[in-house]
Amino acid sequence: MISARGDWPENAPFAVFLSHDIDQIHDRELFRILADLNHIRRILRQGEPGNLRLAGARVLRSLFKPKQTGDDVRTILEIEARYGFPSTFFILHDPYWSRHGPRYRLGSPGLRRIVQMVSEAGGELGVHGGYYRFNDPAGYRESREMVGETFGVEVQGIRNHLLRFSFPETWLAQEAAGFRYDATFGWPDRPGARDDRFFPFRPVDPATGRELDLTVLPLTVMDGTLFRHLRSSGRDALELAWAAIEPVIERGGLVSLLWHNNYFDEPEYRDWQWVYEQLLERLAALRPWCATGAAIDDWVRAQGMPTIGASADSG
Ligand SMILES: [Zn+2]
Repeated sequence: MISARGDWPENAPFAVFLSHDIDQIHDRELFRILADLNHIRRILRQGEPGNLRLAGARVLRSLFKPKQTGDDVRTILEIEARYGFPSTFFILHDPYWSRHGPRYRLGSPGLRRIVQMVSEAGGELGVHGGYYRFNDPAGYRESREMVGETFGVEVQGIRNHLLRFSFPETWLAQEAAGFRYDATFGWPDRPGARDDRFFPFRPVDPATGRELDLTVLPLTVMDGTLFRHLRSSGRDALELAWAAIEPVIERGGLVSLLWHNNYFDEPEYRDWQWVYEQLLERLAALRPWCATGAAIDDWVRAQGMPTIGASADSG
């Protein structure tokens, strides 16, 4: 059992898993600009939090002087490198011209540059499970193989787009598709460990009692939960996140963060990045073991633990 402090590698008091879902990479992209215009409309009509001037500047910039693709990922990697923290990037694979699809193609030169940067930094590539493949083993498998073949890697992990999840179908489909770990399990609309899952664990199929060959790395905090769902900002958002993280640290568990790449280097979303930087600084001061999802899964499996940290009995 990973059940107490000191069970992580390097005698670390707890573990950290940093991850990024890549939904979009291009500054000048039709859906992106439409989404920004919608954002402006909602600021005006529905009181959505936002800064009109900066939102407008963002639209103009994307039209006339778009950012270089990958600059946001470079910023993420620089922030993480301050502490020697590696991270995992989940790549979305689904039809491009679809409402909930990726805003880039797998063959895009920009994505290739991003993957190059990530691999040079010792990061990991996973699959961001597509909206239109939800709980579909064949669809998930195709994504795993496509991402793997395109970038010459063996893909181990998946996290579903929009954290879409149903029990036990999602995990059964991911396992059948050949994934070794899932990082989907979490609440989109509130921070903190879902079902008090503070540790990686292995799910059981309720119909058969069979333990799945899939490690679940539960989510602790996602950026959108703080800033979109809870409409928090600045220092309040930081403290909300930290309040969700502290119970995991106290139990010596796995702190798992999800921050989207496209909110980095963005004046309107400056505090999204600021909160991430502050969290990493605080976490680093406590000397955790920070590893990619794949490395955490490898380590957990190497412990030979079929059932891990049933949270409640592990505090
Ligand atoms: Zn997504």
